[in-house]
Amino acid sequence: MQLTIKGLSKTYSNGVKALQDVSLTLTNGMFGLLGPNGAGKSSLMRTIATLQEADSGSIFLDGLDVLKEKTRVRQLLGYLPQEFGVYPRISAEQMLDHIARLKGVLQDGERRDLVQELLNKVNLSKDRKRKLGTFSGGMKQRFGIAQALIGNPRLIIVDEPTAGLDPAERNRFYNLLSHLGENTIVILSTHIVEDVSTLCSNFAIICLGEVLYTGTPDEAIAGMEGRIYSKSIPFSSVGEYRESYNLVSTQLKSGNLYIRILHEYDPGNGFVASPPNLEDVYFSNIATRVRVDTL
Ligand code: ADP
Repeated sequence: MQLTIKGLSKTYSNGVKALQDVSLTLTNGMFGLLGPNGAGKSSLMRTIATLQEADSGSIFLDGLDVLKEKTRVRQLLGYLPQEFGVYPRISAEQMLDHIARLKGVLQDGERRDLVQELLNKVNLSKDRKRKLGTFSGGMKQRFGIAQALIGNPRLIIVDEPTAGLDPAERNRFYNLLSHLGENTIVILSTHIVEDVSTLCSNFAIICLGEVLYTGTPDEAIAGMEGRIYSKSIPFSSVGEYRESYNLVSTQLKSGNLYIRILHEYDPGNGFVASPPNLEDVYFSNIATRVRVDTL
């Protein structure tokens, strides 16, 4: 499978340019769409999911015209939106059964087996009789994945799925997501760099509706080799260093402040060469469009 997005643009009626000439090619596996809040991630996800129109551009899933053949796309799609509302008084099992029926699994036995298989997959079997309203954030997200998997989708979209999960829940969710990508295109939108470094074989950085980078995390990091330098400085000097250097990020470690800068050669002045990481790639890219304040 290949998803080919070309020249996609969208301006909302209030004048916000949410997508500006976005072009991306995605193949099977987990693709991370990484960008700060307001970058245009949900606008892009909703457009791919056939829930909103673009002003111009095209999206093809292999030979299928996504912007035109919406019904067919919806049959191939599993979608976990950012705001996933659930009916609070219904059990996980009843709700999955209901959605499976809506998605066309009409035979009772087949549907029963499918629901149990999905509950197992997302580790909710023992909670299957519990009302959805009593689920934790992580359980709701795992339930959301189960409903997205009904109908063997070839394209799965998960919009900011780890925001608000505690570290244990996030790990459990990572394990679940990491098994999805084999014969499917999975698009994971996120503002959390760790989501991409943990899960994604390919990714893009998007900011103010524009794609700033696309490639593999390893390539991205290799491209910064020998260009990241770090130094511990007093809090009061941040402004001064920001003026003089290309500041990528600020970090607190054991109460001390460290800055990381992008520099083409050893800047001296007490800076130490530091191995680059995906955060450096992310912050240095979005800093070309917006002011990044990590303090
Ligand atoms: P992200 O998912 O990366 O946070 P969004 O796609 O939600 O980004 O938003 C991109 C930009 O478009 C933001 O500036 C947001 O305020 C704006 N936006 C999103 N939806 C609408 C809408 N329905 N009408 C007007 N502006 C919108």
